[in-house]
Amino acid sequence: MRPIPYGRQQIAPADLEAVMQTLQSDFLTQGPKVEEFEKKFAEYIGCKYAVAVANGTAALHLCTLALGVNQDSRVITTPITFAASANCVLYAGGQVHFADIDPETALLDLEKVRVLLESKPKGYFSGLIPVDFAGYPLDLEAYRQLADEYGLWIIEDACHAPGGYFVDSAGVKQNCGNGNYADLAIFSFHPVKHIATGEGGMITTNNPELYQKLLLLRTHGITKNPELLHENHGGWYYEMQALGYNYRMPDMLCALGISQLDRADAGLHARQAIARRYDAAFAPEKKIKILNPLAYASGKTPAHIFHAYHLYIILVQYRKELYDYLRENEILTQVHYIPVPSMPYYKELGWQKGDFPLAENYYAHCLSLPMFPSLTEEDQQYVIDKILAWVQRQTN
Ligand SMILES: *Cc1c(COP(=O)(O)O)cnc(C)c1O
Repeated sequence: MRPIPYGRQQIAPADLEAVMQTLQSDFLTQGPKVEEFEKKFAEYIGCKYAVAVANGTAALHLCTLALGVNQDSRVITTPITFAASANCVLYAGGQVHFADIDPETALLDLEKVRVLLESKPKGYFSGLIPVDFAGYPLDLEAYRQLADEYGLWIIEDACHAPGGYFVDSAGVKQNCGNGNYADLAIFSFHPVKHIATGEGGMITTNNPELYQKLLLLRTHGITKNPELLHENHGGWYYEMQALGYNYRMPDMLCALGISQLDRADAGLHARQAIARRYDAAFAPEKKIKILNPLAYASGKTPAHIFHAYHLYIILVQYRKELYDYLRENEILTQVHYIPVPSMPYYKELGWQKGDFPLAENYYAHCLSLPMFPSLTEEDQQYVIDKILAWVQRQTN
């Protein structure tokens, strides 16, 4: 199907059926599908608690509120992410700081974070928001060690990585977002993500106190739970105990999420197969650098990583020319991401060109190729052929 986008959702007959059933039920906002989706998602990720919310950005906002971010908070995130990973700190009144990326993975570089932490007195920073960028899992065990040295919390932005995992030093498989090392993790169900519900998001955690706070903040700070009430005037009685928001995910979208979750593993394997074909096609081509080639396709990527492949990214010298050429050929690639601190809004906050040279250099060359489970082998071959034909025409 042309044009070929970089990402596309897949809606199956079972999804339509699930949404129809919920539309005909008594619940459009908070109904039984919300809890069912939360339970199934928590099982899939392997964590204790999951809280469904309006979208990934709302998830990030609630996480910063639950962790008590305020005007005294300084939080470190990566320049190569979607703006929301940084904005959520500002929503809660805190300050955002960035550390540069590891050019090999394009993930926030833990050593750069360490240097930044060491440059200030202990207690200066309060938290970290690293991102499993493109679906490549963070080494959260190492992050936790550093965070503990400095008394920091961690929000893992796992929007790109449901189903991804790393194996920790004890040999235990740690799914992205499972809450064993990070305090909180967040996911998005935007149509380009693994699980698509239109708008939708999820927060995962193993921390019961944070879980209770998130439930409260998701619905206006209001609770009806008899165990939490200060007083109780009768069956109608509720209390607003915190300044919360309406960040609920509707029942019908949770029904869609449940149906999509049933196919999540199939989608992951399709993504892996697509990545393997790209890797094989581009590995011999010196003018293409593959970001994070598959573990078993190269000796470089550690074998204890399972890449969830939200994005398949290559780096080329003449990126704009390749982007335009592919567009003329009905292949709609994308660039992930323009460094957040280079946005006009963040520049006004004091960030300057040259602050994060590795992120800027990455941005100058990166290109996200079509990567979604319903991409046919034929369409993928067309993409590969066009890219190779273009690259081979370059003289230097
Ligand atoms: C998609 C995304 C978000 C925001 O999710 P929405 O559901 O669109 O609000 C946040 N962080 C990252 C890394 C994302 O990719």
